[in-house]
Amino acid sequence: MTIRQALISGSGRLGESESPWLDASLLLSEVTGLSREKILASYPDPLSSDDYNSYMELIKKRSQGYPVAYITGTKEFFGRDFHVREGILCPRPDTEVLIEEALAEIDRREYRRVHDLCTGSGCIALTLALERPDLEVSASDISPTVETVFAINRKALEADRVGFSLGNLLENIEGPLDLIATNPPYLTTGETDERMEDSWKEPALALDGGDDGLDLIRIIIPDAARLLKEEGMLMIEADPRQMDAMESLMKDNGFNEIRRICDLAGDERVILGIWSEI
Ligand code: GLN
Repeated sequence: MTIRQALISGSGRLGESESPWLDASLLLSEVTGLSREKILASYPDPLSSDDYNSYMELIKKRSQGYPVAYITGTKEFFGRDFHVREGILCPRPDTEVLIEEALAEIDRREYRRVHDLCTGSGCIALTLALERPDLEVSASDISPTVETVFAINRKALEADRVGFSLGNLLENIEGPLDLIATNPPYLTTGETDERMEDSWKEPALALDGGDDGLDLIRIIIPDAARLLKEEGMLMIEADPRQMDAMESLMKDNGFNEIRRICDLAGDERVILGIWSEI
C-alpha cells in the first residue's frame, strides 16, 4: 500500500464530503505525523499496515459526518491553529473576511477596546488580539464548553491578556467599547434541524437563530448600541438573505455608514455600522 493508494481508497469513501481528497490527506497527515506538503510529495512511498488501519478508522469517522477538524482537534484560521472539539463551531474562512475588515477599521479609526460575543473557539477575539497587540480584547459565550476551549486556545496562542466571561450575549458586558464583532448563530431553525437530521456534528446552539435566523441578532443590535462609544462599530456575520433586515434594524438603533462585506464566494456575509448618538 502506497500513500497514493491510501489517499485514493480513503477519499473514495468520502463521497459526501465537498473535499474528499483534502480531507483524506489531512487525516493521513494526522496518522503519520507527516505534514500535508510532505504527504503530497510522498505518493509512491509505502504506508505501514498499522498506519493504514488507523487512517481508515479516521476515514470512517469522517464518513459518519464528523468534521475533519473534530477528528484532528484543530482548525486553521487566519494562519493559526485553533483547538476545536465537539460542542464548538469550527472556524470558517468566511469569518476571515470579518477579521480583515475589522483590522482595517481598527487601524483607520484607532480603536482600542474590542469585544467578541458568541466567540466559540475564540477565533475572532484571539486573532484580533494577536494581530494588534495594543488592543484591549475581551470575549464571551454562553457555553461552558466554549469556556474550556477558549482557555486552551488562549494559552496555546499566548494571548493571556484576552478576557473571557461566560454569559448570554452582551448581558454582563461593560462598555464603553470601540468595536463589537460577532459571528452569532444565524441559521434558521429549519436549516439547523435539517443539518441535525443529516447528522451534522456541530452544536445547534452555535447555529440556530430562530425562525428567520435573526432572533439573537435582534437582541445584539440594540444592546451593542448601548455599549458602544460614539463612533464605535458593530460588525456581524450573517446570512446574505438577512442583510436587508439587519440594515434596517441597525438604522433604527442609531447606526449609520452601514456597509456589507462579501465572503470569498461573493455573497454578502458581514454587515457593519457606526453608532452615533445624534
Ligand atoms: N456560516 C455557518 C454555516 O453555514 C453558520 C454559522 C453561524 O450560524 N454562526 O455553517
